[in-house]
Amino acid sequence: MTKTVLSSQEMLAKLVSFDTTSVKTNLELIHWVQDYLDEYGIKSTLIHDETKNKANLHAIVGPADKPGVVLSGHTDVVPVEGQAWDSDPFKLREQNEMLYARGTCDMKGFIAVALSKLPEMVKKPLKSPIHFAFSYDEELGCLGAHSLAEFIGKMPVKPKLCVVGEPTSMKTITGHKGICDLECTVHGKESHSSLAPYAVNAVEYAAELVAYAKSVARRIGNEGPFNKQFDPPFTTVHVGIMKGGTALNIVPNRCEFSLEVRNIPEVDPEQIIEEIRQYAFKNLEPRMKDIDPKSGFEFKYTAGVHSFDIANDNPMVDLVLSLSGANSTEKVSFATEAGIFAHQGIPTVVCGPGSIAQAHKPNEFIAKEQLVKCENFMDRLVDKLRTAA
Ligand SMILES: [Zn+2]
Repeated sequence: MTKTVLSSQEMLAKLVSFDTTSVKTNLELIHWVQDYLDEYGIKSTLIHDETKNKANLHAIVGPADKPGVVLSGHTDVVPVEGQAWDSDPFKLREQNEMLYARGTCDMKGFIAVALSKLPEMVKKPLKSPIHFAFSYDEELGCLGAHSLAEFIGKMPVKPKLCVVGEPTSMKTITGHKGICDLECTVHGKESHSSLAPYAVNAVEYAAELVAYAKSVARRIGNEGPFNKQFDPPFTTVHVGIMKGGTALNIVPNRCEFSLEVRNIPEVDPEQIIEEIRQYAFKNLEPRMKDIDPKSGFEFKYTAGVHSFDIANDNPMVDLVLSLSGANSTEKVSFATEAGIFAHQGIPTVVCGPGSIAQAHKPNEFIAKEQLVKCENFMDRLVDKLRTAA
């Protein structure tokens, strides 16, 4: 049987042709990758979600009984709806040394380079293996990576390094903030607005709690804790969605809002959320319940990503710097799946082709020069794993 051999650009064209917008299935792409790996005798494991419409893929190239290097990427992409694209977002278009399509930079570029190097990886034996770890639903809050990282973290031999290939322009990122998302539903008691004092206004109580959350955010911004490696150098608290009320002459009985905490690694985000919840329970709910005992606040955690922070003197950081040809590291404020792998005790860094500035936008692109840089990275990695256990 002739085996599929694709350049990184051809592989990228293939990967972006699958519309893996997070709300849709990613199985077509995953099965294609599985078949491709099969051609080279590499068996893969799929870890499905509850709906069986989405799956993570894990595969090992090389000796599974040695600690290896995980190449981690998410297969889903953000929607194109409502964005003005100059060409079909699911067809790779080349112009002026740039490659345009949804997912080129975030982050099928990295996956394409990794997969296009498979023939090279299997040509001569590796002393330490390479793990492919491709997830689903990263863009919905890193949903798939949890089961994938757990699966890898529980293997008899734990990998020695995980490289998350999110777009960093091939810079080595050694830490990012965490995210903790909280959904709040305020249950009130409705009435005609002329009788407002006898009702429980859910919108107003929600607003009081949002104002309190804002005061917490201000306090943290002024007093810290601070970590100057991040911009902004402190934990942020923010309310991004708020919904409530139907008419001005009705006291609303329901209001919902969503709050997010983005924490620096030294801060526990749940402590901040607990402070906000306690304010609701102690200062607001008693007044609501005096009028209607059934009224009150309801909280639900919706998504979260652990922060991560790897010490700059960790030998794995040196390794990634030498592979990428860079000489300094950075921390970023956007979250990735790195926190989830690091949480499994696997030393993790973020390093991938393309710029985060192009992610999630219409006419998303990756510069061909970035793919070449990433190819060089992979070539050096394969060399390294061939010679060193
Ligand atoms: Zn991404």
